[in-house]
Amino acid sequence: MNISKRAKDLHFSSFVVDTHCDTLMKVVNSWNPYMRRIHNIDNEIDLSQDNPGLHLDIPKMKKGGLNLQFFAVYIEPQYKPSGSLARALQGFDAFYQMLERNPELVKVTSYQDALKAKETNSPAALLAIEGGEALEGSLSSLGMMYKLGLRSLGLTWNQRNRIAEGVGDCVSGGGLTVFGRELIAEMNKLGIIVDVSHLSEPGYWDVIKYSTKPIIASHSNARAVCDHPRNLTDEQIIALAENGGVMGMNFCKPFVKSGEEVNLDDLLDHVDHIITLVGPDHIGLGSDFDGITSAPKELTDVTTIPLITQGLIDRGYDDETIEKFLGKNYLRLLKEVL
Ligand SMILES: [Zn+2]
Repeated sequence: MNISKRAKDLHFSSFVVDTHCDTLMKVVNSWNPYMRRIHNIDNEIDLSQDNPGLHLDIPKMKKGGLNLQFFAVYIEPQYKPSGSLARALQGFDAFYQMLERNPELVKVTSYQDALKAKETNSPAALLAIEGGEALEGSLSSLGMMYKLGLRSLGLTWNQRNRIAEGVGDCVSGGGLTVFGRELIAEMNKLGIIVDVSHLSEPGYWDVIKYSTKPIIASHSNARAVCDHPRNLTDEQIIALAENGGVMGMNFCKPFVKSGEEVNLDDLLDHVDHIITLVGPDHIGLGSDFDGITSAPKELTDVTTIPLITQGLIDRGYDDETIEKFLGKNYLRLLKEVL
């Protein structure tokens, strides 16, 4: 697929935001001497270099015109329920080591930081958590993590935790717990984005009811296009739009289309559906790079995302809509929430 001059110009002049990758969890063990020993890892993974085994690193971010990446700290099952907080702090340590090793990388904890990255055309990183078990049931953990730079929190992964049920554990039909409600209030107060990807439907509706700030579904697609529990129903997407929220398009093949052959056009079908349903103000990118084993065939790593811009041009979208999709919608949300 060729990229036209118009697509290149538009893509590289836009502020491009992606709200989910698992890259940090690929490097976390390699950057910790103790973890290196117990996992027999020889070398540290250096994100300032091009790593053939990774979907995303700093050189690839630049090549793909990606300005701001949300870096998720994910808590693997073996660290749940106890041990989650310590594992989360290892992820935070990896995030800070990444910043120290890449002085040009801007740490984003405010809307102004994002603007600074935009003005200087520097790559930027926002610290996120995927799975609220990391807090181990404590609002103090949240407060301290805020001080350490946390600005987005996925309430659950697929399992149930002290906050709510995840999509993989949705049997009781319960929504947010009492702690979950207190947590939302505290996140709204501090300025931490509430992320509903992986959350069960009853939990989702509770978040819509209790959150006073716009939310995100950092990496979820449309269930009307691909019937998968990780995707949002039309009713959920309409509620997200009324809340002022934004959802990031996930490249994970089973969330895009069932079947073996999945391509960029199939992902763009989700974009068409969502924009037709709620307009262009509530959609963005949430690739899930380095957390997925397969993506639409054109999207091999983050250097290929200009192809999405080309695809949107080919489908007749105007520049303003494409800029919103690429990052303006998320910038608006950062301004409102952070
Ligand atoms: Zn995920």
